[in-house]
Amino acid sequence: MINVEPLENHPNFRLIEHDICDLLEITEPVDFVYNLACAASPPRYQADPVHTMMTNVAGTKNLLQLAEHYGASFLQASTSEVYGDPEEHPQREDYWGHVNCTGPRACYDEGKRAAEALCFDLYRSGQVDARVARIFNTYGPRMQPEDGRIISNLVVQALRGLPLTIYGNGEQTRSFCYVSDLVRGLIALMEVNPNPGVPVNLGNPHEFTINELAEMVLALIPASSSKLVYEPLPTDDPQRRKPDISRAEELLDWRPSVPLAEGLPQTIAWFAATLTGVTTTMPAHAAEAPARPAQLPL
Ligand code: UDP
Repeated sequence: MINVEPLENHPNFRLIEHDICDLLEITEPVDFVYNLACAASPPRYQADPVHTMMTNVAGTKNLLQLAEHYGASFLQASTSEVYGDPEEHPQREDYWGHVNCTGPRACYDEGKRAAEALCFDLYRSGQVDARVARIFNTYGPRMQPEDGRIISNLVVQALRGLPLTIYGNGEQTRSFCYVSDLVRGLIALMEVNPNPGVPVNLGNPHEFTINELAEMVLALIPASSSKLVYEPLPTDDPQRRKPDISRAEELLDWRPSVPLAEGLPQTIAWFAATLTGVTTTMPAHAAEAPARPAQLPL
């Protein structure tokens, strides 16, 4: 709720709080459906794995049905997790993935894969103008401090002077996309004509190890007294992840424009301004970043 508060009084905005696992009845016409539902952080989606799976399967089916009823275009927020712990690097959309279908990540990975299958079945049959974005790790202001993903964890820990938790040896990699770049990509995929009819990777191809990320966070918060602590690597944690974005470049003329060196200070500044219990002070260059960097498009 808190993230949409600035929109509350906008005449073109209405918030309906609803679990998409239950059918949604909307009486006004619908032009576009963006299905961004589902917890995306491993500890959160694993906390209720059955609900995670059902959100992706039953929930996606319900929203596809809504789109079909109104002739709306539909965008599915899929994920780099469909590639699992990839054996091909970087990951192109034609790679089928390496997913453990019985492991603790399966509720999310396999749920998102099933959701893609539903989208392409209804697209092929001409029932829904469905589009699929495969989103790689995304970060930015307005994440929940307790989200559990790497950037929010490290930033919150560093600001609070707590140990920075590194799982495994920290040499696994991720590629981090700033939220405004991702939003631009999602809108471009929804609006491109004709529908590409294939999944499209959206992410920043610049790859970092988790150790490098932790060093960047500490360098941006020099007053932090935090040290790194190494904890066990979660089961099935992917070792490397980096999108091949040539399809998005070609079809959408899309590429990220905010490098981690710019997006991370903005994210840190936002957390520093909103967190309670912060014991460290912010460096001047990070504190200058706006607390509300982007207006949501309406
Ligand atoms: N990770 C970590 N410390 C944390 C949270 C995550 O070392 O406090 C690692 C995690 O094991 C993974 C990477 O950081 O290798 C990215 O994790 P995240 O949960 O952000 O997303 P994932 O890409 O795994 O879905």
